[in-house]
Formats: sequence, structure tokens, C-alpha cells
Amino acid sequence: MPSSNLVIADESDDGFWRDDSGQSLHVSASDLERHAYCPLSWSLAREGKTGRGQAIDKGRIKHAEIHRKVENFKQKQNDLRRALVIWSWWFTIVVMFITDAIIFTTISDDRTPIDISQYLSILSVIWLVAGLLAIYLPWRRWINLPIEKSQELQDLKNLDDVAIPRTFQPYDFIGGWKQGGRVEAGFLMGATIFGLHAIGLLWAENKEQAGFILVTMAMIWTLLASWQLQRALLADNALEVARINAGLDEKTDVAYSDDEATAGLLLDNMSGLRGRPDQIVIVDGEFIPVEQKTGKIPDKPHKSHKMQLLAYLYLVESTTGRKPPYGVLRYGSQNLHKIDWDDVNKHLLFSATKEIQRLMVQGGAERNHNRKGKCQSCSRRYACNSSLV
Ligand code: SF4
Repeated sequence: MPSSNLVIADESDDGFWRDDSGQSLHVSASDLERHAYCPLSWSLAREGKTGRGQAIDKGRIKHAEIHRKVENFKQKQNDLRRALVIWSWWFTIVVMFITDAIIFTTISDDRTPIDISQYLSILSVIWLVAGLLAIYLPWRRWINLPIEKSQELQDLKNLDDVAIPRTFQPYDFIGGWKQGGRVEAGFLMGATIFGLHAIGLLWAENKEQAGFILVTMAMIWTLLASWQLQRALLADNALEVARINAGLDEKTDVAYSDDEATAGLLLDNMSGLRGRPDQIVIVDGEFIPVEQKTGKIPDKPHKSHKMQLLAYLYLVESTTGRKPPYGVLRYGSQNLHKIDWDDVNKHLLFSATKEIQRLMVQGGAERNHNRKGKCQSCSRRYACNSSLV
């Protein structure tokens, strides 16, 4: 490696290499993968020799396709949640109509349905105006309303931009000009319920007739709620198709999926490690990093891929403070390998990280194998003087 690529740093007592300012030298998960494949490949990449070959191009396309499928799954998941929330609202309206019909026909009150209709009309207008004002004005800022945070997003603080948005009101929502959340939806919902009651009672001459009108409206609304339920069932079906397409297990939620453009980086200052996994899924409440690999499916995980995943496991632990029990290497869509996150693997990861940092300071990376097949498949063979083929 040319000396210009060497950096100045010293080995600290804990074995990591740090520069004058005490910063650990940065080692990415990709560095670990390349170094485990062949230290020379890592060194060539550091010199700016990018990987070449059809496999790399195909892998990139495949990666983008997988990311698109996972994003599609997340979108369908959100569609289903939204459809179910709307259905539950509509069902609430049905229940309210029936309850009101019972109340109307059983209680004695001097007021006529027309009086009550007028009263409800006024209430509906007040709620509508309140809802519109809440949408159009940044009232949350004015009263310094605490911002609701997601525990999961706080844990994954570097990935805020890419985690799943919530159904109606995203986490960190602070409202503002022409923006609405759950409070605004409640106001508009109230205005709708009061308005529908007022319209129903407008034509009633007595309480019995009012009860009949309310039951009729409940039946009409039941039809609408059934239609919404059908939409929810279709959304559920679409979600299932998207889940299978994305190769995700049942009961698996996706906290994050890397699309290279928006994904944040996980960092650890103590070791200098950094990287971003392809996906982080939530299984039984634990964050599980998933690394997707394309190309030929091996019988057992490649060491280079394992090293990369170990870096993500450590980064998820150091970022969230919660130790993931394992990570997943995924070859193709079906071939999954669990890699345990234990002390042995942690030691392996730290040793490789320190060795890469040493090479960054002292240089001297060399081929560490005699396997022609490895050089044959190497994407940096075109720039390598030590290739076996
Ligand atoms: S061609 Fe062979 S020796 Fe050269 S970097 Fe690739 S694997 Fe290493």
C-alpha cells in the first residue's frame, strides 16, 4: 500500500488504534468483510480500486429489488393499519346511532327532535371550526406540547429517518400550519357524528320517528362499515403477499431497511466501528440485524459475511443498549443463517477490527490464502499483483 494511505495513530491499552485526538480509527462493516475475504482486497479497496464484474452489478440490482420489496411490505403494513383504524371509527358511529336510537325511544324529555337537531348542528359546527383551526394553526408549538417519541426510534437514534411511519400521526409529530394529527382527527370525527345526528333528527316529528331514523342511519352506516371491512381484508391479503414476496417471517416487523440514499449510519466511538445493516427487524421485541447476500448460495455462511454481520450486531447493541441474541445472514430469499452474538464472536470481531486498524497505520496487507477459486471470484483481481490466477 502506498505510504500516503497510512494514517498516524497509536495502539491504546485496550488494543484499538487511536489518533492524536483520541479517536478510534474508523473501520466499517464492509472493511471487515473485505479484510476477511483477503487483506489485499481490503487494501486495494482502500486505494480506491472498486470491485468490478458482473456479479457485483447483478448484486447491486438484486439488492435494490429486495429493498423495494421490503419497502412495499412496510407500505402494505401501513395501509392495513389505516384501513383497520378507519373501520373501527365507522363501527363506532354505528354503535353510537343504535345507542342514541334506544335512548330516544326510552327517555322522556320535553324537547322535540327539532330542538335537539339544532343543538347538535351548533355542536357540529363548533367541532368543525375547532378541527379546522387545529389543522391550520401550529398550536402544539404555541403551548409547547411534549413531542411523543417512539421508544424504538429512540433506541435506534441514528435511523430516525427511515423507520416505519405511524398510521396517522408520525412519531416526533409537532404539527404546524395545515398539519393534522390525532387531536384534529378527533375533532373532525366529532363534527361528523354530531352533524349526522342533526341531519337525521331534522325530519323527525316525534321521538319514535327519531328513533326509527337513527336505526335506519345505523343500518346505512353498517353497510359502509362492511365495505370498509372488506377493504381492510383486501389490505391484509395484499400484506401477506408482500410479506411472502419480501421473504419475511410471520410476526416479523421491519424497523429499518437500507436504501443507501437515506439510511443513517450506526457508529461506535469506542471501537471506531460503523456501518448500516440491510435491515433491522423486530422479533419478539429484539432488534435483529439482517444482512442480505446475493449470488451463489453457499452451504454455510462465508467468513467474510459473518464478520460483516458481527459488526452490525455489535453496533445494534452499542446503539440501543440491548443485546441482540443473534443476527441473520440471508442468501437469496429463503436461505437463512442465524449467527449468535456471544463473547466468542465479539472477541473475533474486535481482533479483526484491531488488525485492520494496525494495517491502516503500519501497512503490509498481504494475501492470506492459497485458494485459486478465491482469486477467480475476486472483484479486485484486475488490480492485484498477487493474484493466483
Ligand atoms: S486477486 Fe486474490 S490475492 Fe488478489 S486481492 Fe483478490 S483474493 Fe486477494
